[in-house]
Amino acid sequence: MAEGYCVKCKAKREIVSAVEEVMKNGRKAIKGKCPICGTVMFKILGGKAVPVPPATPASEPSSPAKPSGSSPG
Ligand SMILES: [Zn+2]
Repeated sequence: MAEGYCVKCKAKREIVSAVEEVMKNGRKAIKGKCPICGTVMFKILGGKAVPVPPATPASEPSSPAKPSGSSPG
């Protein structure tokens, strides 16, 4: 299941009704909706032009440790 960043919730959400799309530049992307607020979410696959959420000043209460670096997905 695809995961993306919801700009409205300001959090990572599971992308529901996700569909794979191919952009003009030939890159694939996942387009779907936020399960919480319904905002359209967009996740670029293997692209560099991915919207990066702002760094959080404080550590989150419950956040699983993520391995550094990016893994091919
Ligand atoms: Zn949302």
